[in-house]
Amino acid sequence: MNISNLKTITIIGAGAMGTGITSVAATAFPQSKILLIDSNEVQLKNASDRLEKWNRKDRLKNPEIQFAEVEFLGDFKQLAKFSAPDLVIEAASENMQVKEKIFSQINEFATDETVLASNTSSLSLTKLALCVNKERRKNTLGLHFFNPARVMKLIEIIAAMDTSPETIEFARELCTAMGKTSVVCKDAPGFITSRLGIVLINEALFALQEGLASAEEIDTAIKLGYNHPMGPLSLADFIGLDVVFSVTQTMFENFQDSKYRPPVLLRKLVEAGHFGRKTGKGIFEYS
Ligand code: NAD
Repeated sequence: MNISNLKTITIIGAGAMGTGITSVAATAFPQSKILLIDSNEVQLKNASDRLEKWNRKDRLKNPEIQFAEVEFLGDFKQLAKFSAPDLVIEAASENMQVKEKIFSQINEFATDETVLASNTSSLSLTKLALCVNKERRKNTLGLHFFNPARVMKLIEIIAAMDTSPETIEFARELCTAMGKTSVVCKDAPGFITSRLGIVLINEALFALQEGLASAEEIDTAIKLGYNHPMGPLSLADFIGLDVVFSVTQTMFENFQDSKYRPPVLLRKLVEAGHFGRKTGKGIFEYS
């Protein structure tokens, strides 16, 4: 696969990440067609509104700017109307069963040339690759964008056990074409960024749970003391506490190291449906 030949890009999941990735891809590859799939109609409508708003904003800065056409699809069956994807980026919920089902479904519409990527924050790409035909495992990898995808400069490229060097090279070129800096990493739970980042977020949650200081004070201490742009608790709300919980579970299950055990406070917030910014309430409240 050559990045100059990208005609059809399929993105799965129209949440925070899928919508941001669609915007990045639509700007980098205006000649392509993007198919954005989500099983939730409300999410698709929100994604469409957000993409329109971003396109208007970008056009004000550069009236010449072009964007790829985006089609919004409610299920995989509708893919039959379009040519097979050259690139798939899955950005659905951080749940292995959900992602495995999606990879099996997308396998039916892919070709042996399609590059198959997941934006997972922690799950095994090697395991996900088992859901596609054997000869397509060399094309399967992780492309870990960061939130908000339009702004954040990094993409972590994750090489699964059978990902080919050609696929990694394609991914590096793809990241550069999207204006991002990439790092390549082996397939191990949490890769580089979630493995290190989740330790700070988790410890901040334990500190809050113990009453060490208020949430505001914990965030201010880390922001000003360590020069972080965001405190770990605000970051957790921004990522989504459901995603953070899922990542801690994956890390704990895989490493059996107590530093990754999820705090009860996190579990309870998730059980209550307080996922952070996206639901209006998490550790902090948002109006
Ligand atoms: P989100 O909850 O905002 O969106 C997930 C979307 O997936 C929802 O719109 C949901 O309807 C959709 N979905 C679920 N099952 C589906 C299915 N079977 N078919 C189609 N759509 C389906 O989550 P998010 O924050 O955008 O995260 C998505 C992925 O990106 C996760 O794997 C997460 O770990 C990863 N990620 C998240 C962040 C972050 O900061 N939020 C950063 C990097 C990577």
